[in-house]
Amino acid sequence: MMGLMQDRPLLISGLLDYAERYHGDAEIVSRTCEGTVLRGNYRMLADRARRMAQALQRLGVKAGDRVATLAWNTHRHMELYFAVSGLGAVLHTVNPRLFQDQIAYIVDHGGCNVLLFDISFADLVAGLRPRLPQVTTFVAMTDADHMPASVEGALCYDALVAAEDGRFAWPQFDERSASSLCYTSGTTGNPKGVLYTHRSTVLHSFVVCQADGLQLSSKDSTLLVVPLFHVNAWGVPYASAMCGAKLVLPGPAPDPKTLFDLAVAEGCTFSLGVPTVWLGWFKYLDETAGLDLAALKLNRVVIGGSAAPRYVIERFQKQGVFVIHAWGMSETSPLATVGNLLPRHAGLSPTEQVDVQVKQGRAIFGVELRIVDDQGNELPHDGTVAGDLQVRGPWVTAGYFRSEGGAVVGPDGWFSTGDVAKVFPDGFLQLTDRSKDVIKSGGEWISSIDLENAAMAHPAVQEAAVIGVAHPKWQERPLLLVVRKPGTDPRPEDILAALAERVAKWWLPDEVVFVEELPHTATGKLQKVKLREQFRNHVLPGA
Ligand code: ADP
Repeated sequence: MMGLMQDRPLLISGLLDYAERYHGDAEIVSRTCEGTVLRGNYRMLADRARRMAQALQRLGVKAGDRVATLAWNTHRHMELYFAVSGLGAVLHTVNPRLFQDQIAYIVDHGGCNVLLFDISFADLVAGLRPRLPQVTTFVAMTDADHMPASVEGALCYDALVAAEDGRFAWPQFDERSASSLCYTSGTTGNPKGVLYTHRSTVLHSFVVCQADGLQLSSKDSTLLVVPLFHVNAWGVPYASAMCGAKLVLPGPAPDPKTLFDLAVAEGCTFSLGVPTVWLGWFKYLDETAGLDLAALKLNRVVIGGSAAPRYVIERFQKQGVFVIHAWGMSETSPLATVGNLLPRHAGLSPTEQVDVQVKQGRAIFGVELRIVDDQGNELPHDGTVAGDLQVRGPWVTAGYFRSEGGAVVGPDGWFSTGDVAKVFPDGFLQLTDRSKDVIKSGGEWISSIDLENAAMAHPAVQEAAVIGVAHPKWQERPLLLVVRKPGTDPRPEDILAALAERVAKWWLPDEVVFVEELPHTATGKLQKVKLREQFRNHVLPGA
């Protein structure tokens, strides 16, 4: 027998309607590409999003069409989040930090006719234009006074908004309709398009606002460091509308000083970003005299995208900020596991709490996970055995946009993440590697992430990467690459001695090489493919 409750669709426009009606005055502060700081709120966002939806319709955008953006975290980009999806079209957020070839590939593969861009990317767009044959309409996300000359025929965003009256009712449609499209950052091959739905987005928002999720609420002022072009800024734009949280958008290329100043000025309580952001943040704090740390109101910081270094968790802990270590990927919207402490952790010492926080947290309701061996047999959650991590759930992808590769999930819905992990009996997940990065030494696996974390615990190590290098006897052995903290001069043996206290002897890297910097992807991940190429012919001592 079917139940008798209403089957109202979960739509992104519903989030905006709600925010306008119940949190209309909650602020949205935007550092703009024109160099100003604009103070708006959800009422203004809703009005301008409706006008933009009217303008897009007038430009010929229809339900299902992809609309591309190359833009920072600003109020205009937020407006597009709601205008495009609210209309039933698909917001295709392109990462401007990618290589030009990848940007051209992604925009073209997405099949977009309209591209909206920040003025900081005008030259990039002008250069790419000949390679974007499908794009017929270019819109500069700025006002009439700042229109870039380099993109000929581009329309002005603010003029489009001003020409409409905002009298627009959001259409109602199937909640399973596509809402946005993000391409994976391509650390493991060509970028692939993940196509979210209104339903997956709204369900994911509930998790962001959940007390055992990211705890977002109307009490928060969020410093949105994670870019709107990186997995929908981890779902925070939608979740903020759901709960009326204040949003602080740091605009073009925010550096640690900009972030710090905004956090203080706007009383930010909550922030999110990849580890490299926070490494830069603490470097700035250490190198800058006279900062008023007491003026910071942060109480939670979400770290994901790569393993949160212990050092960063500890530094935040000392300032009274709780690090929520989360794991996920473009394919999981991205939240899949969240590292909140449980009641039984309350009595732990600060160090013991960090021991829990360095793990990637536990699955949230809605995401099922398991680990399997090479034959697909399920492995125990005993905290010892590592296996390939698989997930399934209503905000996990069922396939890639326009992919030639066929099904990416098994018949029972499990999606193979490409990550290798252990699961502890209490459900905490510990990522040990990506399957392509794991070091296979004499038939056993060595976790590059564990070694990197152990190396980063050394006070002279700014950043560390571990890769496997070919070895005649062991097949592969670990090589540790280290960026030293400015003003320090550790010897390789000092670092190895510190590692020896934390990992098994046979895990110890065969060599430590100091480098000036490590290559990162556009989303801040270590580019191990590049490192492996660079050190392909490296001969380890004794090999
Ligand atoms: P891509 O898969 O193209 O690199 P994503 O941004 O979707 O792009 O990255 C997802 C991957 O990032 C995960 O599969 C995992 O390897 C890594 N990752 C995400 N969060 C964490 C974390 N907390 N700890 C370690 N690795 C993480």
